[in-house]
Amino acid sequence: MTGINNIENIIFSQMSLSTFKKCPLKFKLKYIDGIRWKNSSPVIRHFAEVFEKGKKFHLLAERYFQGISTDFERFKEEEPEIYEWINKLKEYFVIKKEHTYLPEYQLRMIEDPIRLQAKYDLIVDTKGELQVWDWKTAGKRLKRDKLEQSFQTIVYLYLLKEKSELAVDRKVNAEDIKMIYLQPNYIDSPVVIDYTEEKHKRFEEVIKNTIDTINNYDFMNDFDKSLYKKHCKYCEFNFLCNNERINLFKSDDEEIIDEIDWDDIEEIVI
Ligand code: SF4
Repeated sequence: MTGINNIENIIFSQMSLSTFKKCPLKFKLKYIDGIRWKNSSPVIRHFAEVFEKGKKFHLLAERYFQGISTDFERFKEEEPEIYEWINKLKEYFVIKKEHTYLPEYQLRMIEDPIRLQAKYDLIVDTKGELQVWDWKTAGKRLKRDKLEQSFQTIVYLYLLKEKSELAVDRKVNAEDIKMIYLQPNYIDSPVVIDYTEEKHKRFEEVIKNTIDTINNYDFMNDFDKSLYKKHCKYCEFNFLCNNERINLFKSDDEEIIDEIDWDDIEEIVI
């Protein structure tokens, strides 16, 4: 089937792979047909404050690690929560001269059959190890088991191990890479996920198998909606597929936030 994007041209991200796993039709609508959640949609408006705070925190953290002087004090009155978050981050994360910080760093790999990209909140090279940091500002306390199996963990760790030379000019052993999820509201309890060569091989299989399934998926004939129904009530295409709207007042915010690709939301200015 033809669409705005041909499958062969798609460079997969953790979000697109995880979307395919949740529902192949949703993947097709978003990544092949190019239909995205509009900023004016009721869901995005409902979560506008959550998104805006998250985006601002990411921008301020980026500036902090880039060493760009920013008047953080002005947030004290205007945005006390963001002010508190960034102060906690600065206390927790004292910048060391001997370390290299790569905030908002993008990596890409196109080596048949793997076409993969990721944007990292922060990579830190301590010269002994590489740390991937990811900020999570929305939602409840993170669950380790969910994160360990997530496509974000799989893609971010796999891609960094494969392409470490692009980021830090040297090959790095899997055992010297780790991923750390940090929530400013729970700054003392980051979720640290270690990496190993065994995991690297396993993650490669998961990525290859998923891309292979996508490449060979017949969206006209293979799709069986009944298999994916549990994701419909939080899906932006619920009205299109089932003629039902997301019930924002009966839904679990967490589930909806998980569905939204933050990169889809318009940039904000601070
Ligand atoms: S509403 Fe349901 S079937 Fe339709 S794209 Fe979303 S998850 Fe898939």
